[in-house]
Amino acid sequence: MNIGIIGLGLIGGSLGLDLRRLGHRVLGVSRRQQTCLVAKEMGAVDDASIDMTLMALAEVVFVCTPVEAIAPTVVELAALLSPNVIITDVGSVKMPVVDAVAHLWTNFVPGHPMAGTAEAGIAAAIPDLFVRRPYVLTPTATTPPEAVATVAQLAQSLQADIYYCGPLMHDRAVAWISHLPVLVSASLLAAVTSEADLEVLALAKQLASSGFRDTSRVGGGNPELGLMMAKYNRPQLLAALHAYRLQVDRAISLLETEDWKTLEQHLQQTQQARPQFLPPPPQN
Ligand code: NAP
Repeated sequence: MNIGIIGLGLIGGSLGLDLRRLGHRVLGVSRRQQTCLVAKEMGAVDDASIDMTLMALAEVVFVCTPVEAIAPTVVELAALLSPNVIITDVGSVKMPVVDAVAHLWTNFVPGHPMAGTAEAGIAAAIPDLFVRRPYVLTPTATTPPEAVATVAQLAQSLQADIYYCGPLMHDRAVAWISHLPVLVSASLLAAVTSEADLEVLALAKQLASSGFRDTSRVGGGNPELGLMMAKYNRPQLLAALHAYRLQVDRAISLLETEDWKTLEQHLQQTQQARPQFLPPPPQN
């Protein structure tokens, strides 16, 4: 199959590496010529260009640009492609993408491969990024089922685990497990660094270890990603933050009233809840 990839970064480049290895012909378009050269050198594409007309040969196009560039990219593609070509995207939020894009292209399949690393750009692209990772497809009532099936087959060939849900459902779920943790973790870092006693702060920095590493990791990541989540998933993230604030208020109240019994029950419940989200790895 001739597959187009627009936006040769971590996700686009990684997709290209895998799809080429599976025997597809991969055509890439990116913003910078240098990125196109690197993508070709590292084997992520058969051919790459900054000129969108390269996509005229593609049967399926993956739009792997930052979220804000997805809709303008589809507008450009719509002027170029024949209507049977399938366009899919990999954006981390789905409702705003579907709202902006679905009416532009009938064969549009919204998607979100939930895989990544802390790195960005073509140099960060790696093979097998999507293996055993969720790949969520969020078709609407008007998305053609054959187009969904084609994208699902491609995602399956990457050994990803396919999930289907509506775009709003997707955005609500990722607000809980991906976007809220970023702002909670950022708030933790901001609270810790607000310590006014510089001796205490210096000692805290020296003593910080695995617990702080785990809880501060996502809040200490790429600010652009956090901003993108807040901008594009604002209503769902706000709802999650309000619910989280209630929990913080509850914890404060339990400590103020020294209600140790209720606090213990609360911590027992959270201990039981965690494996439901992150099951322990299977033992060999
Ligand atoms: P990235 O590494 O920064 O790659 C994006 C690439 O898109 C950039 O390298 C840039 O290439 C290119 N680009 C930017 N604007 C463009 C435009 N207007 N036209 C064509 N190419 C353009 O970002 P990423 O992490 O791969 O994320 C890409 C998409 O995947 C985003 O929509 C994101 O929400 C989604 N996603 C990310 C992750 C993650 O963990 N990172 C996970 C799942 C989904 P140049 O070098 O040519 O400028």
